[in-house]
Amino acid sequence: MPSTELASYAADANNTRGRLVREEKPSGRSEFQRDRDRIIHSSAFRRLEYKTQVFVNHEGDMFRTRLTHSIEVAQIGRSIARCLSLNEDLVEAISLAHDLGHTPFGHAGQDALNACMKEYGGFEHNLQSLRVVDVLEERYAEFNGLNLCFETREGILKHCSLENAGRLGEVGERFLLGRSTTLEGQLANLADEIAYNNHDVDDGLRSGLITLEQLSAVRLFASHLELARKAYPQLDERRMTHETIRRMINTQVNDLMVATQKNIQLHGVRNIDDVRSAPALVAFSAEIHAQNKEMKSFLHTHLYRHYRVMRMSAKARRIIGDLFQAFMDDKRMLPPQYIKQAEQNHARAVADYIAGMTDRYAIREHRRIFAVEEI
Ligand code: MG
Repeated sequence: MPSTELASYAADANNTRGRLVREEKPSGRSEFQRDRDRIIHSSAFRRLEYKTQVFVNHEGDMFRTRLTHSIEVAQIGRSIARCLSLNEDLVEAISLAHDLGHTPFGHAGQDALNACMKEYGGFEHNLQSLRVVDVLEERYAEFNGLNLCFETREGILKHCSLENAGRLGEVGERFLLGRSTTLEGQLANLADEIAYNNHDVDDGLRSGLITLEQLSAVRLFASHLELARKAYPQLDERRMTHETIRRMINTQVNDLMVATQKNIQLHGVRNIDDVRSAPALVAFSAEIHAQNKEMKSFLHTHLYRHYRVMRMSAKARRIIGDLFQAFMDDKRMLPPQYIKQAEQNHARAVADYIAGMTDRYAIREHRRIFAVEEI
């Protein structure tokens, strides 16, 4: 596949470091396109539809799920990649896969499972996303997982403790050596941030847990709301909200492109080796970075710790804690496909099973195990 329009420092699918199991080159598509296609056809990808971040899946059909979130991340990532002449296919593959390892019930679920796994090596969703694509998917005759390219795998592994990095081999090396991932990996990470900050504002307002008035204290929102109000004084509140969020996304995307371009020039980056030895280059300007931080801290205080969210989080913790304990007490209650793995590593098999559940599946499984009236 020709890749003439790529910048010299972009990740080129023709020069991938390759897959764990060697395969023939794909025909009619690039290596990273093949990764993207495999991710879309995976079962973990389909389950994202019924997993949520802030709002639990049954709370309303209008809220983001992890699936629509991942698609938004891919959209933002690809737009920026195209402008910067980076590899769109790689950004898309990483974006669509970045949350595959997420537990049900968002961050509350991740924290609960991590607490359960404390004595057994912990649970971390980035690591689990990598585990899904490296080990857990069962779709191919020749290998476990999806056998993705190195560049896609390292992009999925955004963060990693040094202890885990040491265990992961080549894909964990950069954490030990203090090197950077591809610009595409860095970009997918910040596209994630743009997507969730903005859609959490949108979903937060829609749910009524936060209000326009509260948000007027946050510079990023207030400045764009003011511009939207000036341009369209007659607009109703719902459209005003959307117009404001649209403008916020646009500002963040443009800011990221300009600041990143500057960083690339500043560090004299010419090829991918320069990218790997430079600090993170995909970044916002100092001003927008500060405004984003302010928005995040607003969301933490007013949305993620809202009493109604806290109630759901507590419920999620109980469900996951109960399920974990039940399967640890008696592994014979695990579905047959987990038994073999449970004989080698009981706790990890239980964590894999629970992490793969959707919100509603976890609620149902909890009922099946604990409610006496159900069979
Ligand atoms: Mg995400």
